[in-house]
Amino acid sequence: MIVGERKPLAEIAAMLAPFKKICVLGCGTCVTVCLSGGEKEAAETAAALSLLWQKEGKETEASTLTMLRQCEYEYIDDLAERLNEFDAVLSLACGVGVQTMTTRLQDKIVLPGLNTTFMGYPVEQGVWTENCLGCGNCVLDMTLGICPITRCSKSMLNGPCGGSQEGKCEISKDVDCAWQLIYDRLIKLDALERMETIQPPKDWSTSHHGGVRTTVREDVKLESSE
Ligand code: SF4
Ligand code: SF4
Repeated sequence: MIVGERKPLAEIAAMLAPFKKICVLGCGTCVTVCLSGGEKEAAETAAALSLLWQKEGKETEASTLTMLRQCEYEYIDDLAERLNEFDAVLSLACGVGVQTMTTRLQDKIVLPGLNTTFMGYPVEQGVWTENCLGCGNCVLDMTLGICPITRCSKSMLNGPCGGSQEGKCEISKDVDCAWQLIYDRLIKLDALERMETIQPPKDWSTSHHGGVRTTVREDVKLESSE
């Protein structure tokens, strides 16, 4: 999932200062699951903003709506008319949602209520960790499921850097060395020979380093470009 954290209330209030009628718009997918931007968080944010504005003697109003996914035109179109009632939308979606909304609703001001942090998963209640950078050329087969691109601080592809101590990365005693995890897993699955294949330098052109990426699937497009 995409993980995000709500921006500090003071930062949100500052960005909303020029507007009088605000919609705090929750998103019903990733940010709902990571408890940062769903219906509940939209209601909490609107209530906190209303209290703040009341104390400051402002007449700004915050209402709430929630969209299943702010990253798809289909759902944006369903709410577009209602969003026209507002001077600005405070989106509690990830950066993808904010930008999809902005692209679809050209005349609407859509502002980010969250800081989008990473793609990852919940390790336990209240703790999320990053595990994929979307490099565009997955090597999880080599490591049997542990990403050295994301989870090794130096994105090493051919084993550890030499700074690992007692299974921890040299950047912090709180961070597991990804290559220790990979080594332990390969031993456990009797697949250590996978480490003997020297990996060539990674082709970073498939990652964000190659610029904005677009995926085209001709087989599922509604109208063929041919
Ligand atoms: S190798 Fe690339 S695509 Fe695969 S998990 Fe790691 S960052 Fe993600
Ligand atoms: S100690 Fe391990 S995780 Fe940290 S940079 Fe070196 S190989 Fe990567």
